[in-house]
Amino acid sequence: MPQHFELSLPIDIDQVKGFLSHAEGEALFRCASELESGAVAVEIGSYCGKSTVYLGLGCKATNSTLFAVDHHRGSEEHQPGEMFHDSALIDDQGAFSTLASFRRTISAAGLDDTVIAVLSSSAQFAQAWRGSLGLVFIDGGHSLDAALLDYRSWVGSIASKGRLAIHDVYPGAEAGGQAPITVYRLALASGLFKEIVAVDSLRILERL
Ligand code: SAH
Ligand code: MG
Repeated sequence: MPQHFELSLPIDIDQVKGFLSHAEGEALFRCASELESGAVAVEIGSYCGKSTVYLGLGCKATNSTLFAVDHHRGSEEHQPGEMFHDSALIDDQGAFSTLASFRRTISAAGLDDTVIAVLSSSAQFAQAWRGSLGLVFIDGGHSLDAALLDYRSWVGSIASKGRLAIHDVYPGAEAGGQAPITVYRLALASGLFKEIVAVDSLRILERL
C-alpha cells in the first residue's frame, strides 16, 4: 500500500497569482504524492507557481523531483492588451515575465530542493529530454497547435502507470477554449490511458 500524505500548505496559496482551484490543487498534490520514491515529474506551464506548489509538495513527500517548464513570457492571453494580462508582471526590461514571482513562490514554499525550474519552451526541452516520467501536467499554451505539440512532445515519455494531467478541460466552448479537451479526447482515444480523476477543469489519466 502506498503511504498516505496530507496536504499542508506552507504559504498562503491565495496570495499566489494563478489559474487553479484549490480542489484542483489538492488533486495534483494527491497525484504527485503517489509517485514512487525517486520518480520524475514534469509540469508544462508554471506561471507564478500555484500548481507547482501543489505538485512540488507531493513530490517532496515522495522524494521525487519536479521539472517546472515555462519560458515565463506568458501565453497569448497574458500579453499586453489581452484578457488575462497582468500589468504588475512586467520586468525591468519592460517585458511580461512571471519568473521573479515564480521564484519567490517556490522559495517561500520550501521547494527549492524539489522543483527544478526550466526556462524553456516545452517542445525544446522535450527534444533534449531522455527518460521516463511518473507524471506530466499540461497547462501551457492553449492554442490548438500549442496544446497538441505539448501532448505529442511528452506522451511518449510517460511510464506505464504514469499519469497525464490536463488543465482547462471544458466540455463546451462557452466555458473555455477547446484545445485542452481536444488533447484529452485524443489521449483517451489512443487507448493508452484511462481516466482516474475529474475535478473542476482538471482531468488526470493513467497510462495503461
Ligand atoms: N499552472 C499555472 C498556470 C499556467 S498559465 C497555475 O497553476 O496558475 C500558462 C503558462 O504556460 C504561462 O506561464 C506561459 O508562460 C506558459 N507557456 C505557454 N506556452 C508555453 C510553451 N510553449 N512552453 C513553455 N511554457 C509555456
Ligand atoms: Mg490552466
